[in-house]
Amino acid sequence: MNRVIIFDTTLRDGEQAAGASLNAQEKLEIAKQLDRLGVDVIEAGFPISSPGDFEAVQLISREVRRPIICALSHANAVAVDRAWQAIKEAAHPRIHVFLSASDIHLLYQLNKSREEILEMAQKMAARAKSYVDDVEFSPMDASRTEPVYLYHILEATIDAGATTVNIPDTVGYATPQEFGNLIQGILVNVPNIHKAVISIHCHNDLGLAVANSLEAIRNGARQVECTINGIGERAGNASLEEIVMALKTRQDSFNLTTNVDTTQIYKTSRLVSELTGFAIQANKAIVGANAFRHQSGIHQDGLIKKAITYEIMNPKSVGIPASSLVLSKLSGKHAFKERLIELGYTLSEEALSRAFQSFKGLADKKKEITDRDIESLVAEELRAATEVYHLDHVEVSCGDHSLPTATVRLIGPGGQSLADAALGTGPVDAIYKAINRIVGIPNKLTEFTIKSITEGIDAIGEVLIRIESEGITYTGRGASTDIIVASAKAYMNALNRLLAKKETEKGKP
Ligand SMILES: [Zn+2]
Repeated sequence: MNRVIIFDTTLRDGEQAAGASLNAQEKLEIAKQLDRLGVDVIEAGFPISSPGDFEAVQLISREVRRPIICALSHANAVAVDRAWQAIKEAAHPRIHVFLSASDIHLLYQLNKSREEILEMAQKMAARAKSYVDDVEFSPMDASRTEPVYLYHILEATIDAGATTVNIPDTVGYATPQEFGNLIQGILVNVPNIHKAVISIHCHNDLGLAVANSLEAIRNGARQVECTINGIGERAGNASLEEIVMALKTRQDSFNLTTNVDTTQIYKTSRLVSELTGFAIQANKAIVGANAFRHQSGIHQDGLIKKAITYEIMNPKSVGIPASSLVLSKLSGKHAFKERLIELGYTLSEEALSRAFQSFKGLADKKKEITDRDIESLVAEELRAATEVYHLDHVEVSCGDHSLPTATVRLIGPGGQSLADAALGTGPVDAIYKAINRIVGIPNKLTEFTIKSITEGIDAIGEVLIRIESEGITYTGRGASTDIIVASAKAYMNALNRLLAKKETEKGKP
């Protein structure tokens, strides 16, 4: 097989990153774009972990029909059954069962013997198989598991019906050579390995996730688990765009292909960044703002003469637009809709109409509307979809000779109007205090950043905040040409995510 299966886990492992907390609508938008990107498998979530996750997986299973939709599951009957319930309407469903395998995890986390683990793994792979043909099994912490024991687990789960066996470097501990050797060892020592695809799942704690993945692929792995922009637990997962572009750019070395339409990469990266609230570092390979920017005079001179002198990839091949088209006050709904599709958004008619209204409002204040403005506008629209409290009105008085005072009015859960006012050390403090007086959920602001989305003094200001409540981080974003309003919106967004999480966690097993 000369093709590498791209398994995207942005919505599962990526979403596990501190503060990502996407709502179901946002997850669906990302899943649709992953479909256009051409990934083979979408790991849509972990249904047993919360009712919210269950619903998102179910929604994606119904709406996204081309790729395989995968649900993650613990190795116990309740979790496997729940995973199946969530994906049973998918056109191509997969259940992914995982279980710790290393002695460190067995001893300190599970308090079980190797024999017990082996039996559980086999039983649960078989249970998943009773629901679907497509079963994946992961021995967690595989890179720190004793190889001979790992071979036994893989053999047993393949026997039980696993069609993909995934080798996770759960803690990001492996080095490329070791990890490549591990894959080779599996190919040689697991007698029934030809009945399954070898997959890998690498974490980036030592910055080696992509290198480890590529080395494993070179040694025979044919599925790679990765995320857009490399988001994920701690230092994140292997980055999809880096792996795909490495395979493509160095085809001479790997001689392998993928199904990915690389011209969709940039769009997907922007969408995920916008919806998760995780900014992309400027020097990030492939998708960072500086990834194709040449500063040195010698390089620029070379590029003008011939692109290949200093450019190993064409920015067009990852879908970076050559010039950014701008819309204006005169642009109609059709042009607006076309632009949204170009940017990877597919809104319902109703959401589209609302987004168009805000576009018109913005065009009254700002002459040129760029793609970034539109992205921020639509993201606002998606955020609004699951609001418990809606910011209806905010007013602040401040200055160097006045006491900052804020008045806010929110529309509450039952549609009731709730108003309050507060003093603060500054305008943002005053607003947040007034909002807290109404919502009344203890939380701590841990991060506050503000930046302008485009150039010019009439630009939209975007505020990104993080709040903490009961040890969990929630991200909030808000955008407006008025930075005080943007700050208020960001806070409402974070609080709404907190409330939504509390709501969906009710009835958590
Ligand atoms: Zn992981």
